[in-house]
Amino acid sequence: MRIYFGIRHNKEIQWPDRCLWCGNKSDKWHIVSKKSIYDFEYRVFWYNILSRIRTIAYPVCKKHDIIAFILTPFSRIDIPFWALCTAIGFFLAFMHLSPVIEQSTIIWWYLICSLIIVGFLFFDRRGLQVHKVTERFTVISIPDGEYATEFGLLNNCNTIDGRLLMQQDN
Ligand SMILES: [Zn+2]
Repeated sequence: MRIYFGIRHNKEIQWPDRCLWCGNKSDKWHIVSKKSIYDFEYRVFWYNILSRIRTIAYPVCKKHDIIAFILTPFSRIDIPFWALCTAIGFFLAFMHLSPVIEQSTIIWWYLICSLIIVGFLFFDRRGLQVHKVTERFTVISIPDGEYATEFGLLNNCNTIDGRLLMQQDN
């Protein structure tokens, strides 16, 4: 279970003074950034992709700084778990049916795919995720618990908007 927050662009984020992953003393900042594409501008011969980027640094201990770094590729995956599993299933089925792929190399693909799933599950449960950058706020999520409650209080996220706890705009 994760708690979703809507953080305004004009506000600095306040963090509880400890590691987001384990609650121990923090001595590093882990940086997460997210780019959301919001429009295409069509011209006669080309188009511009319009996007917004938000970079967020959050406190971690030494150990989780390393783990968060290793799991960075997974933090960029913003798709539901079932969709990831379906895609991997199709990929493995394709590997089995393909006549050009050696059967002996398939075992490596199984290993790589299970690592992807384990990494995804691990990250999904523990770290900070930045989901979307909209015109006026950024959607992030934190695992449910004491840390998320404290984060909500520190940042005045007290307006419920769908699944989001929205930060006050003053
Ligand atoms: Zn930690």
